Amino acid sequence: MNKITNHMPTAELQALDAAHHMHPFTANTALGSKGARIMTQGKGVWLTDSEGNKIIDGMAGLWCVNIGYGRTELGDVAKRQMDELAYYNTFFQTSHVPAIALAAKIAELAPEGMNHVFFAGSGSEANDTNIRLVRRYWDAKGQPEKRIIIARTNGYHGSTIGGGSLGGMSGIHAHGGKIAGVVHIGEPNYWAQGGDMTPEAFGLARAQELEAMILNLGVENVAAFIGEPVQGAGGVIVPPSSYWPEIQRIVDKYGILLIADEVITGFGRTGNWFGSQSFGIKPHIMTIAKGLSSGYQPIGGSIVCDEVAAVIGSDEFNHGYTYSGHPVAAAVALENLRIMQEENIVAHVRDVAHPYLAKKWAGLMEHPMVGDAQLVGLMGSIALTPNKAARAKFSSDVGTVGYRCRERCFANNLIMRHVGDRMIISPPLVITLEEIDVLIERAWVSIDECY
Ligand code: PLP
Repeated sequence: MNKITNHMPTAELQALDAAHHMHPFTANTALGSKGARIMTQGKGVWLTDSEGNKIIDGMAGLWCVNIGYGRTELGDVAKRQMDELAYYNTFFQTSHVPAIALAAKIAELAPEGMNHVFFAGSGSEANDTNIRLVRRYWDAKGQPEKRIIIARTNGYHGSTIGGGSLGGMSGIHAHGGKIAGVVHIGEPNYWAQGGDMTPEAFGLARAQELEAMILNLGVENVAAFIGEPVQGAGGVIVPPSSYWPEIQRIVDKYGILLIADEVITGFGRTGNWFGSQSFGIKPHIMTIAKGLSSGYQPIGGSIVCDEVAAVIGSDEFNHGYTYSGHPVAAAVALENLRIMQEENIVAHVRDVAHPYLAKKWAGLMEHPMVGDAQLVGLMGSIALTPNKAARAKFSSDVGTVGYRCRERCFANNLIMRHVGDRMIISPPLVITLEEIDVLIERAWVSIDECY
């Protein structure tokens, strides 16, 4: 076979892709007729595809390329680390400098009292770690019956069997089932489900489902609650301001562990280092991945508070991955965090998001088909609707309007994601005001084309 390169004709690359490459979350046989769009280069917020189109990436890849594409410093660091020590593990009383330095840096950035990091290769793996961590914690405290984890419908925590079970997406549960000991309460999606209630009353009511569930299961059986500060893959659902304080009150009252899944919201996305800080949440464990390395290397982990770490550490925890704290991934993540700090990227998020992007994003509601616009930091969503006043959904015989809108965005060289009829952005955190203008202009045109 000839060498496969960027310079091959797109149709040939697409044919090979369809023939051999099984894609995640894709009907793979459909690739045979339609073909994937093949990306070849990235710089800042811009991607180039195999046809030479310049595309503005409104999703930072999969919510992860926070410092933008093409930062060669990260490649330099990766090469140096590979040359020096390409791999060693962190099992059985061994360690290495990149893992030590990255854990210490994360502890410095994390909220007070969260000083310990258990590394994994991805967000899904880290959430699998969390299931075992919280159960091990209660075992070690002499309460082994505390095993149930309460999560939320439409939450997303990964697609391993553990992460997929914590997530509340029926489509994922339908493919392979769900583990025992995970139950779900409702999500704080005011636009879709709030009805006649005020946002505040709805937020309280949704949070109080946690208390009802704890009482129903018996607190002696409940280990933890897990939630994303802002649901991402569920549609960028920004909860009413009453929601998280009430969740926190309930978690504190019943003494269960709180896991904040910060895989998307961590490392600047909401305008603070962590989404928990933006929403006043005090978790015992935070899941991290994506923005930790800006996606330049696969790495994730769990940031664990002092008390939980002390209990877990009192005995051997029979858990870990070959690549926990991988030296190349850790070195690259450390360089990513250095750049974020040196270039004040978290402050930049606040500067461009409010009021500049917030105003333009809300301005999309002037379109007759846009009924809701939500934004926190640099993650936002709009709801497409046939009737704003009724907060109506499109009937399914129209097909998914969100899917069509995403296709129009793609054709207009803008990447936005759709979740049902919600359209989402989560661009690289380095996006400039001029690039925000381009993103909004292309979004408007694309929405209009499917009106
Ligand atoms: N948790 C959240 C909140 C996520 O958004 C994701 C991925 O989108 C994950 C966990 C899973 O992370 P990964 O895809 O790295 O396994």
